[in-house]
Amino acid sequence: MKKYHFNKRILVTGGAGFLGSHLCEALIKQDSDVLCVDNFFTGRRGNVAHLLDNPRFEILRHDVTFPLFVEVDEIYNLACPASPIHYQHDPVQTTKTSVIGAINMLGLAKRVGAKILQASTSEVYGDPDIHPQPESYWGKVNPIGLRSCYDEGKRCAETLFFDYNRQMNLPIKVARIFNTYGPNMHPNDGRVVSNFIMQALRNEPITIYGSGEQTRSFCYASDLIDGFIKLMDSPKEITGPINLGNPGEFTMIELAQTVIDLTESKSELVFEALPEDDPKQRKPDISLAKATLGWEPKVDLAAGLKPTIKYFRQYI
Ligand code: NAD
Ligand code: UDP
Repeated sequence: MKKYHFNKRILVTGGAGFLGSHLCEALIKQDSDVLCVDNFFTGRRGNVAHLLDNPRFEILRHDVTFPLFVEVDEIYNLACPASPIHYQHDPVQTTKTSVIGAINMLGLAKRVGAKILQASTSEVYGDPDIHPQPESYWGKVNPIGLRSCYDEGKRCAETLFFDYNRQMNLPIKVARIFNTYGPNMHPNDGRVVSNFIMQALRNEPITIYGSGEQTRSFCYASDLIDGFIKLMDSPKEITGPINLGNPGEFTMIELAQTVIDLTESKSELVFEALPEDDPKQRKPDISLAKATLGWEPKVDLAAGLKPTIKYFRQYI
């Protein structure tokens, strides 16, 4: 009898965003059928324009705060604005997207028997007292501040994922992503890497918030996507939460200087007010990802900034 080979059908919510677009492309390269769902709040059709003619790719305008009925084998739940400027634009919608979006996607996963991965965040650690941050740390998060719509929304989504896993035996994967950058970021995204590169390319002042001594660890997009797929493909007992990020740690002044050097910019640094609840330090402990997934990032900051700068040049 003739054997039929069925490709995996994969739903990527937030698939037209920065990370989602890279993920859709990587999954198609692996011969999966990809359904990209996005409401285009921060995502752009242009990020996936090169995939539109591919018979494996389908795009649907849909807001995950409303139920979705599709047949899929795996779900990557990325829908949620990630930049503070964007998630604070409509904070109620941000919480709804994380919480109601998670309920809708978990309900879909349960109904069709799909495995589901949540794009969680290092923000669940808040302004951390423990450094670097291991998954066992419960975090120090302000529940009523300007960042809470994002931080607490993502924390509640993690709770929902683990309750669906315990209560319904749903196969789940929770990735805690640390600051990730690369091509396909929105030029007006408002996050630090895009701001500094756009300012440097235009020889405009580079806006350092606060003293610039606060730290972040920056992961290049291709490394992160590799971690996502390894986590999704890992055995059922590996649920996470699992940190995915690059442990290289930099102050914002160091980042600004690196961007100025790589762009040969004439920009100078200007110091502006530090936003409320801005974490002072952040760096992932990735021992768990190394041990369970055999994953670690390969692209260092300078190597990742070069293609990112090249991408942003089209917008100046
Ligand atoms: P992004 O803003 O580029 O992508 C988010 C996508 O979700 C966009 O395409 C947006 O239009 C879509 N979206 C937002 N609300 C939606 C809704 N209600 N329904 C459907 N689509 C919706 O940001 P990104 O950096 O690609 O982040 C992707 C995911 O990864 C987010 O969940 C974010 O919280 C998480 N994350 C990212 C980082 C990072 O550094 N890039 C760090 C931690 C967590
Ligand atoms: N930041 C900055 N100048 C900018 C944008 C951001 O100094 O133009 C700082 C911001 O205050 C924070 C860090 O860069 O300390 C990272 O900010 P981002 O918004 O990228 O991400 P998050 O704070 O969520 O890690």
